[in-house]
Amino acid sequence: GSAAQIAALRAKLAPEGNVVSEAGRRKTIEVFGEPLTPVQVVERICGDVRERGLPALLEYTAKLDGKQLTASDLRVPAAELAAAHAAANPKLLDAVRRIRERILKFQQAILHQTVTVPTEHGGYLTQRYLPLRRIGVCVPGGAAAYPSTVLMTVVPAQAAGVEQIAVVAPPTAFGSYNQDLLATCHELGVTEVYRAGGAQAVAALAYGTNGNTAKTDASGIPLLAPPCEGGGIEKVDKIVGPGNLFVALAKKHVFGEVDIDSIAGPSEVIVIADETTRADFTAADLIAQAEHSPGSAILITWHAPLIDAVAAELEKQLATLERGELTRPSLEAFGALVLVKNADEAVKLANELATEHLHLAGPAAEKLADRIRYAGAIFLGAYTPVPVGDYAAGPSHVLPTGATARFASGLSANDFLRTNSMIHFTETGLAAIADDVLTLAAKEGLTGHANSVAIRLQKN
Ligand code: NAD
Repeated sequence: GSAAQIAALRAKLAPEGNVVSEAGRRKTIEVFGEPLTPVQVVERICGDVRERGLPALLEYTAKLDGKQLTASDLRVPAAELAAAHAAANPKLLDAVRRIRERILKFQQAILHQTVTVPTEHGGYLTQRYLPLRRIGVCVPGGAAAYPSTVLMTVVPAQAAGVEQIAVVAPPTAFGSYNQDLLATCHELGVTEVYRAGGAQAVAALAYGTNGNTAKTDASGIPLLAPPCEGGGIEKVDKIVGPGNLFVALAKKHVFGEVDIDSIAGPSEVIVIADETTRADFTAADLIAQAEHSPGSAILITWHAPLIDAVAAELEKQLATLERGELTRPSLEAFGALVLVKNADEAVKLANELATEHLHLAGPAAEKLADRIRYAGAIFLGAYTPVPVGDYAAGPSHVLPTGATARFASGLSANDFLRTNSMIHFTETGLAAIADDVLTLAAKEGLTGHANSVAIRLQKN
């Protein structure tokens, strides 16, 4: 429980520190023939795509992903999406449909509703929620294929009523050439899938590659025309989804031009186990996170025999696991088995570490849930392993990492809404509130503000 021990655990949970502030400045890489930090690389790529649009996007795709694409094959053709869907394993499509239903049901249930509060004298105050119209989704494709990420980002957006969703995935076998990924997009009704990844894809979504071509309707609202007829990507309003360091830094770079969801780092779990927790279950849960490689996995328990039992189970399971050799170094670098005195200490540690996934794995541990304030998602009980939430339950698996759960929340349908406040006062209502406005306006010396109220209250 010492400060040094907590710092050591924190370092395991956020191996690269805060993705953006630490790793982005530290390492130097030679993408442009001179040593630059990832932040500098990303600034250069984003600036270039902003300046030159489509040619820059295609050049970086060739340079960084080794794929020479043209304006016309940047977007996955509709026929290719349909073909991937037609050829897909029916079991995968059935699972996608069922998972979609579960996510949709939960995300619709939690959706913010417009609220109107009547005020005195016949006025009212309203908070109105409206869906974003066009968003971009980053699906990683460097090291593994993630149909689940499509589900966990696209379906919440659809629950909110977003009209256009553009998916970008690197032009790799795990990315936008992955047939399961394309089939999943088609099943969810996503028609815009682009073969682009990394910072260049984020910049293309943020700035659009075709200049500002959006036409507006009679009310001045951009028309959502069928995009990219001449090739390229139309600008979006918000970019969501996970990715590697370059994706994370690019999202930070374009924030302000567009909205973003969050900046996620490597995945992490803390399991708090009690006397009833099975060592084989817990070892499997730690491995499930560590196999992200890097992925942090920490057990906290006050039941001493569990530590040795879990250590033995880890060895046993790693020996037989397909990804065992990938998982072992991740566990060694970013894993820990922590013995605490009691449940109070476990709660304190969990709150201090503010982890992405927190599994309260037994009845005694479950009772601690009310005292946990900081965690991205909390999994309760022996039969709720984290992968249930990763793949199938309903809340999104896009969650805050690196102790950002102190202030950030997991992605949900509500992140695809924006609000208007609406304020209406009657003449009597204005008279009743006028003194407060006039007092503040006088304090700030804004006589024009004061006058716009006073002028309405003058009796002729
Ligand atoms: P990715 O698909 O996010 O990014 C690959 C891109 O990075 C490439 O297309 C390339 O353009 C760019 N890139 C790579 N090296 C570069 C360099 N030196 N300079 C400039 N650009 C470069 O990559 P990934 O490897 O698949 O990583 C995905 C990450 O997302 C992993 O850490 C994974 O664990 C995480 N993830 C998280 C979730 C979640 O929901 N939290 C889900 C899936 C994946």
